[in-house]
Amino acid sequence: MERKIEGGCHCGAVRYAITEVRASMVCHCRTCQRVAGAPVLAWVSVAADDYRVTKGEPAGYASSPGIARNFCAACGTQLTYARAPDEIDVTTASPFLAQSQHCVDQVWRRPAELFQVALRRLM
Ligand SMILES: [Zn+2]
Ligand SMILES: [Zn+2]
Repeated sequence: MERKIEGGCHCGAVRYAITEVRASMVCHCRTCQRVAGAPVLAWVSVAADDYRVTKGEPAGYASSPGIARNFCAACGTQLTYARAPDEIDVTTASPFLAQSQHCVDQVWRRPAELFQVALRRLM
């Protein structure tokens, strides 16, 4: 029997199911920071065949050449990131994995001081 993890956006307009998580990570890149409005964005990686939208239609755009990012058009929740046709990254909190899935890798990480300097400039 296949394992199913269900998730979706904050408002409920988009729902999806994942059958198997390959990996998890926290990304510190500038694009993830901008789309999330936060210092980091946490993802799980799944095979494209293991991800299926079950309700609604996510909106999408290319955040960089060859990078497709999907989100809920109604509430703005970031949902997926795709660079290769066979793999898709899904935001960790949207599949309700926050308590059960531990993030292991941190990519595009910058020294913490950079954020503190940036925050001080904003204050
Ligand atoms: Zn929504
Ligand atoms: Zn990123």
